Amino acid sequence: MNTEGEMSAGQDIKQPNRFPFFKVAAAVGVGIIFVIGLVFEEGARKRRAEMTCIAYLKQIDGAAKAWALENKKAPSDTYSLTEPTMLAYLKGSALPICPLGGTYSPGSRFYDVPKCSIPGHQLLYKTSMGGYPR
Ligand SMILES: [Zn+2]
Repeated sequence: MNTEGEMSAGQDIKQPNRFPFFKVAAAVGVGIIFVIGLVFEEGARKRRAEMTCIAYLKQIDGAAKAWALENKKAPSDTYSLTEPTMLAYLKGSALPICPLGGTYSPGSRFYDVPKCSIPGHQLLYKTSMGGYPR
């Protein structure tokens, strides 16, 4: 009687427990997929910002090179990103703003490309004046 009571109690517990287990497993699965989705979305957002920033760096580089040619600068001359006559070559005559809030700095010479303070935000192509980014 005692044994039978325990057995039926055990079965009673075992049967309803099976469904919650799958529910929990499903919830965990959905949770994992959701987290993976967030990670991918975060990665995609960072890549989009990086691509926007690199496009800005190209614009700044182009403006600096155009300004250098116009003002007969040597590739080894240094420049500033606050030079108003150089900024005039940019859209709205203003330095673009990095989507992730990075700070732009000029290349050490016209020979070099401008840089963003955020890692990964950099021009990787050989510049028109023959320099490689550093
Ligand atoms: Zn940037």
